[in-house]
Order: sequence, then structure tokens, then C-alpha cells
Amino acid sequence: MFPLGQDFDATSWASLEPVTNELISREINSTDELEVFFSDISDMAEHVSEAGAKLYIGMTCDTESEEKQADFLEFVENIRPKMSEISNQLDLKIINLDYLEQLPERYDLIIRSMKNSIELFREENIPLSVQCTKLSTEYQKIVGAMTVEFQGEEYTLPQMRRFLESNDREVRREAWILVRERRMQDSQRITEILDELIELRHKIALNAGFENYRDYAFRSMERFDYTPADCYEFHKSVETHCMPVIHTINDNRLIGFGYNKLRPWDVNEKSGDSPDVQGRGALVPFEDVSELVSLTSEVFHRLSSELGGMFDRLVDGEVLDLDSRKGKAPGGYQYNLEKTGLPFIFMNASGQQGDVETMIHEAGHAFHSMYCSDLRLIQERNYPIEFAEVASMSMELLTQPHWGVFYEDAEECRRAKRMHLESVIGLLAWICRVDAFQHWMYENPSHTHRERSEYWLKLRSRFGPRTDWNGFEEDESLFWQTQGHLFGAPFYYIEYGIAQLGALQIWAKQSIDPQGALSDYKAAMMLGNTRSLPDLFQAADIKLGFDEHHIGSLVDKINSALVSL
Ligand SMILES: [Zn+2]
Repeated sequence: MFPLGQDFDATSWASLEPVTNELISREINSTDELEVFFSDISDMAEHVSEAGAKLYIGMTCDTESEEKQADFLEFVENIRPKMSEISNQLDLKIINLDYLEQLPERYDLIIRSMKNSIELFREENIPLSVQCTKLSTEYQKIVGAMTVEFQGEEYTLPQMRRFLESNDREVRREAWILVRERRMQDSQRITEILDELIELRHKIALNAGFENYRDYAFRSMERFDYTPADCYEFHKSVETHCMPVIHTINDNRLIGFGYNKLRPWDVNEKSGDSPDVQGRGALVPFEDVSELVSLTSEVFHRLSSELGGMFDRLVDGEVLDLDSRKGKAPGGYQYNLEKTGLPFIFMNASGQQGDVETMIHEAGHAFHSMYCSDLRLIQERNYPIEFAEVASMSMELLTQPHWGVFYEDAEECRRAKRMHLESVIGLLAWICRVDAFQHWMYENPSHTHRERSEYWLKLRSRFGPRTDWNGFEEDESLFWQTQGHLFGAPFYYIEYGIAQLGALQIWAKQSIDPQGALSDYKAAMMLGNTRSLPDLFQAADIKLGFDEHHIGSLVDKINSALVSL
């Protein structure tokens, strides 16, 4: 039966069922047989993963095809739940084998992960999780259905972004108020959804023997290497070191714009971005997708011939779908094809600086999966998100010295770099605000709506830009409602902050030892998921830490780069 052939159809239960039955009933009589068992399970998981990836890619590249959508949904609703049940059964089977103790060290993390999910598993939590999923789907539906009428036309909220970023202050103000009014119409229900989610999640945690959902979430997300106390330290360090930089950036904007105060439509509450102070139009780094590809290739070749070659392999492998066109889903992602061994990159490029950053970011993810593609088991390649984003975020920073490829005009190039570095700082503050909010909510699950608002505003005074929300106080106290992670992916957010700290250290090393920075990057990425998070950081010669001194020195580096630009 194993290895499964290239033509094995993992989208069909009829072909999967005999394979899973054989695995479940197989007798294992030695450590060698157990290793073969791991390898066969991985073989099957690779097929299932690639089948799901191809269906998802097919659907997002062609949203108008009802057939592709139906195929994907069929897979999600019928194959995935069955496979997760099977995987639970296989974990239980493995965990009870005596041979487990004799496995070589490279299985340690895989076994830790299996034991963890078995320890957390409670039958009575399944229906509660289903209810949580339903509530977060309701949130998505409510937000997705929001539209406003602006200048005689109907727009979705993501479409309103271009008016919110307009150089015309009056257009921004009008657009911002319209969007806020629309959001406030559903704010009552969204508040209730979060109430219900907190209650359900608290129950899930109690059922699994935890004091609160925060502690449960840390365990279920396999955060073995950092604690809530580390997160608090992270918040404090960002408050001390990032906020003065953010306030200075905004003070300069205030002078540049010539306003008497900054209003919420002048500075983006989340990213900290603002329109160009000099009223210049958007940057135009490339004309079309073929130019984006050739210029990105040149950037990577200038950074290193190895990375340039790896990027070209993606281009030749036809695993890029980059242009924005009708019938394509929004956003960008990188998806590993576990069987083929190639990553797929999806995005909607339309000629903006943000597209350059997305292309480079997703290429960084692709390099990571290419570097560790020789690791045998799928679990060995399933690296933690805190480190996956180091791979992508550090590429954004490491390529900066070569962004001139996209800009003939030196000032335009400086502007692109400045905007990117400012958003790195701005985003760290927003990440800490969202994270601190979640810690507090789940540690105090019986809080009132008023207390929630008050706590949010307290965090805003610690981590927010000093914009004046006079006249929009209720909007200000409910602005957390715009952050979808609070509903669908609780506690999942600080990972990006942790990864950014890693990326900044690799970038800092580049200025002293450019070759060393790249070889550390490679050495760490090749390890995939075979080392703990601190060991992966160490392999990249960077530190996993949150103290003020450490974060202060990274912020100083950004600040001096900003000054020199
Ligand atoms: Zn990413």
C-alpha cells in the first residue's frame, strides 16, 4: 500500500478509507516498525494536505466556478473532519506503544505535540468548539455584509480603503465617518458575540482543567517557550520604546500637514500609517506582473545568487498566481504543496509598494519551505508560526538595500523604505494592544461591557496614536470590534510581534555582516520544525527575548535608519 502512488486520490474517502483502516489496525512490533509507521502516516498526510491545497488554490484563483467551490467545500466538510478523527486515533495508538521511548531524539517534538493534544482533549468540548465556530462565522458574515454609499456608489468596507487613504482630508473625513456609522449599526450584536465567545471559551478551559482560557490557549497553541509574563514584558518594552518614536512621527506629521490636531481619519489606528504629508501620489514600483516578477528576481539576485536562483525556480515552476483579476479571491498567501515539494504563491498585485512587500514576504515563506523540504516527515517541516514569520518578515527588511531596482528616483525609494519602517513600529504597538486586551478579557471573564470599554481605552492611551476622537467617543471605546482575530483566532497575533523581533535582529546583523546574516537565516530555516522555538532563534544567531534593553536597541536601529532616510 505504501508509499502511496503519485496518482493516489486523497480527495475521495473511498480511496482514503482502506489506507486509514490499514494504519489503525496495523501491528507494530519494533522501533523500526514504529518509524516506518510514522513515515507512512506522513505519506498519507502529505497527500491529504496537497489535495486540500490544490482545491483551495483552484477555488481562490477562480471564484466564479461553482464546481471548484463545491469540490473544496466537499473536502472541508467530509474529508478533513474524518481525517482529524483518524489522526486522533493514530496519536492515541502511538502514544501507548512501549517502543516510543526508544525512538531517536528527532521524534521528541512530534511526541510532545501528540501528548499535548491528547492531554487537552475533552469530548464535552467538541460541541462548545462548534458553537464558537458558528459565532465567529456570524461575526464574519455581519462584517462582510457591511457596505456604505459614498459619492453615489455602493462600496464594501475594504473598498473604502482608497478613500480613507486619500490625500484630500475632507474625502477622508467623510469616508471615515460613513464607515464608523455603518459599523456602529451592528455594534450591539458584535458585543454580544464576544460575550458569548468568552463564556464558551472559559467553559472549555475549565473542562480541560485550566483556571482560565488564556492559560488553556497557551497550551493548545503549544507555547512551551514563552509565558504570559513574557507577553506582559513585551507590551511594557513596546510601550517604553516604540511609543516615543510613534509620537515623534505623528508630531512631525502634524507640523507637515499644518493642522492644529490629528484626527482619527489622519492616522490609521492600526498600522499607524498616514497619507503623504507633501500630498504626493501613490508610489508606482512596477507596471505589470511580469515586471514585478523580473524586478523581484533582480532584487533577490543582488541579495544573494542562491536566493535569486530559488526565486527563479518558483517562476519556472509556474507556482505563482500574482495578478489581480476578476474572479480571483482577495488577499495573498503562500501554500506548501507537500507532495510536489514546491510552495505556491497567490496574491493580487496592482502596481503598489504594498504588492512589492507582499511578493517579497511570501517569497520568504517559500524559501523557508524550500530550505527544509528534505526533512522526511511532514511534522518535521511544520515549523512554528513565530518562526515562519521570521523567514518572511526578515526578507522584507534584508531586501531594502536593493529596492532601488523598483525606483529610479532616489527620493521615491527612500519614501518606500521610510513607510515600511514606520509601519514596522506602528504594527508592534497595535499587536501589543490587541494582545494585552485578550489577556485581560480572558483573565477576567465576568467583566462588564463598561469595564471592557474602559480597559480598551486605557490600552489605547498606552499604545495608540495621540489622535483626537472628540465627538466619536463610543466608536473609540468599541474600535476593538474591527479586529477579526478576537473572534475567530483568539490569542493568535503576538506571533507576528515575536517574529518581527527576530527579523529585526537578522536585519541588524546584515549591516555588520551581510553574508553571515544570510547564512544564519539559511541554517535556521533548514531545521524546519525539528528544534524548539528558542533553538531555532539560536540557530539564526538571534535572541528570543522581550526585555526593555533588547527591544530598545532594536527600536533604536529602526529609528536611526529612519533618521538617515
Ligand atoms: Zn506571513
